[in-house]
Amino acid sequence: MDEGTGHHRITLFAELLLPVPIPRLYTYRVPFEMNDRVMKGQRAIVQFGDRKIITGVIMNLHEQPPKGHEAKYLLELLDELPVVTDVQVKLYEWIRDYYMCTLGEVLNAGLPSGLKLGSESRVQLHPAFDLEESTQPFSDKELILLKNLEHDSLDYSGVSKLLGVRHPYSILKSLVAKEAVILYEEIREKYKPRTEARVRLAATHTSHEALESLFETLSSKPKQEEILLRYLQSVSVLADPESNHHGMSKKLLLEPDLSESSLNTLVKHGVLELFHTIVSRFGDTPADSGYVVQLSEAQQVATHNIVEQFQTKPALLFHGVTGSGKTEIYIHLIKQALEGGSQVLYLLPEIALTTQIVQRLKKVFGISMGVYHSRFSDNERVEIWRGVLNGTLKFIIGVRSSIFLPFDNLGLVIVDEEHDASYKQQEPAPRYNARDVALVLGQLHFAKVILGSATPSLESFFQAKQGKYGYIALSQRYGEAQMPQIVLADMHEARIKKTINGEFSQVLLRHIAEALDRKEQVIVFQNRRGYSPMVNCEDCGWVPKCINCAVSLTYHQYRHAMICHYCGYRETLPEKCPSCSSTRLKTVGYGTEKLEEELALKFPDAIVQRMDLDTTRNKTAYELIIDRFEKGETNILVGTQMVTKGLDFDSVSLVGIFNADRMIHFPDFRSYERAFQLITQVSGRAGRRSTPGKVVIQTSSVEHPLLQMVLHHDEAAFYGSQLEDRRAHGYPPFSRLIEITIKHSDKSVCRNAAQELFDRIKQSVTTVRVMGPGEPMIARVRNQYLMNILIKIPRSGVPLDELKNHLQQIISIVSQSKTYKNLRIIPDVDPV
Ligand code: ADP
Ligand code: ZN
Ligand code: ZN
Repeated sequence: MDEGTGHHRITLFAELLLPVPIPRLYTYRVPFEMNDRVMKGQRAIVQFGDRKIITGVIMNLHEQPPKGHEAKYLLELLDELPVVTDVQVKLYEWIRDYYMCTLGEVLNAGLPSGLKLGSESRVQLHPAFDLEESTQPFSDKELILLKNLEHDSLDYSGVSKLLGVRHPYSILKSLVAKEAVILYEEIREKYKPRTEARVRLAATHTSHEALESLFETLSSKPKQEEILLRYLQSVSVLADPESNHHGMSKKLLLEPDLSESSLNTLVKHGVLELFHTIVSRFGDTPADSGYVVQLSEAQQVATHNIVEQFQTKPALLFHGVTGSGKTEIYIHLIKQALEGGSQVLYLLPEIALTTQIVQRLKKVFGISMGVYHSRFSDNERVEIWRGVLNGTLKFIIGVRSSIFLPFDNLGLVIVDEEHDASYKQQEPAPRYNARDVALVLGQLHFAKVILGSATPSLESFFQAKQGKYGYIALSQRYGEAQMPQIVLADMHEARIKKTINGEFSQVLLRHIAEALDRKEQVIVFQNRRGYSPMVNCEDCGWVPKCINCAVSLTYHQYRHAMICHYCGYRETLPEKCPSCSSTRLKTVGYGTEKLEEELALKFPDAIVQRMDLDTTRNKTAYELIIDRFEKGETNILVGTQMVTKGLDFDSVSLVGIFNADRMIHFPDFRSYERAFQLITQVSGRAGRRSTPGKVVIQTSSVEHPLLQMVLHHDEAAFYGSQLEDRRAHGYPPFSRLIEITIKHSDKSVCRNAAQELFDRIKQSVTTVRVMGPGEPMIARVRNQYLMNILIKIPRSGVPLDELKNHLQQIISIVSQSKTYKNLRIIPDVDPV
């Protein structure tokens, strides 16, 4: 194309998002020679300030030069195709505005670290470059640099220093042009595709005659002959020449007993060829096409309703009791969406849950399905990212961060267990709720969204009842399975009548014994990890506390230490009380560790296993624990909320809830909702097949209305009374909340700043209710004092964007005030 007249000569400007703390975009000029390659969403290297060279993402391209200064040039494009798509940019901007954070923070949460923006790029020798053999002319400075790069790569400031020049880029550019060095992103290089060594028959030997003479030659070399035979058995060279082109895995060919050196000889003589292909890190199990599930009549009706309601509503709430077969219905809908050519995203709140469901879905969807969560390595995550970009992965199942993947054609989004609090990211920003972002993502793609749960959040339930979402209920379990029978164990009475055994009621112990006798399995749920939540001096009442946080230390017997669950601080258990020297130090209460120990003592023939944060730190621990339980190798599974969710076992007939009181009486407006959800969910693990299930709940408040509703499976009463309560007190879903946390290492600075912020908001924003400032329940964490301000916003009549902008302004005035150095002010929109 004619360089002088074509569209090449347009002067383009790119606005980049850079990994710097100032939340704005920076404009750079695109060199003409990049005009044909540059795209929105690519990463590019630019010079920032005087000597920093950094990587950013191109968010915008236009022909408008910046005002008041000359734009610097883009130095280099890192990608051939965008790593961030157009729709994603829209989603990122929505998250920024809604959750009151910066675009950089969103991008940071969104990009897998393998693609993240490093703050410095580096220079290294071109892999094919050899100074000795090079015939190129180099300047003195270039030679100095090349010699140095033989030892190690350098960053730009390193190059500056070495050569004593302020702007090394012209030197670098010349070396890049001579193919002597490359510029690279340190982090980018972390992504390495996995390769596999494969073997095939050289093309010259693929005819019938060639093979015959080959075997003649090899008749005196049995080892080589055997390799060749084994190859021909696996690959039908003559019948299907194409299959020889793909060859077979070298490892497979040699396993278990053939020799590598004989293979090498065959390769050396040009009989076999060795080559490498890139393979997926996720194996290549194909779908099992024989997997067909016949939906029950109730399930068919529900599916039919879903499809019908989607005609008029893009989003709907699927309220199906535990064990009703929601997953089977999802599978059905996913298949349809995929057959229609669109992408599907299936969100789950936690990995603990995914193991079983992933196995179930893998059977159906095979290699077209990608799994995305934080326990995967960087490489694995980049692979999924690229798989979505290049279209090999049409179906993603993942945790909350999968909403950031580069979809371009989503047709269906499923948010399973939509009520779950782990959809909310607490720290760091963006403090987003993936359930709510999924709804926006759905809108951007004109996709259908299903929010599914056996215990919907009050927010979603209310929206559905208001007609904003569609609503589908499935209130019977699949097959012969019945809803479990609930038994309340009265701990108050047990204490008075002295029938209590440690913290076990006779009712729970009896039911466990009976279940074990019948060879059925038991799950016991206790929402505290560690051995004992507290240590206490029986003489003076002393309780060990964390030195950094306002909490008592939890005793962990296995690690012989008292540990803070907020900052990780640990101490050994003292022999004597530091306050009165008494030796009567006692552990108080049951954590999962103690529960495990006690159950093993009380039921010596049973195998007890614990599943909590402490036993699942390594990547495969979940799978192992769940697998053993599934196979019946474990009789009792003890655990924290991890055991409550989504697990599907055949022979669990009993679920024990060790202590329901703390959940119910927790001082938070959501505590009833949470308790109801937790109890219902964990109960839902019992009796999922023909074995009828029972749930024993230990509580001192048997008459509590919430437990009465649980006892009678009375959902209607629960949602009705809770909505009434929320309405009366102006809590969500009848209002929106923004919680602002003020953090400082000095208590009085923290208080003063909180007061000033409060006054300023109160004065200038009159359309909302401002509450506080007050100490949160844990008023100091990691040596930072905390204060909270809560803003209640009416659901209608207040322009949200305007309000948030206004709050941002007030926040930056206070946080930049000289009176409060190092103050942090953190807004949290829709806190949970
Ligand atoms: P939910 O997700 O609603 O708790 P699941 O989809 O896990 O329920 O179903 C509960 C159990 O019943 C699972 O083991 C599932 O395989 C089985 N199941 C549900 N529907 C069917 C069906 N139509 N045919 C065969 N098995 C089913
Ligand atoms: Zn004491
Ligand atoms: Zn601490």
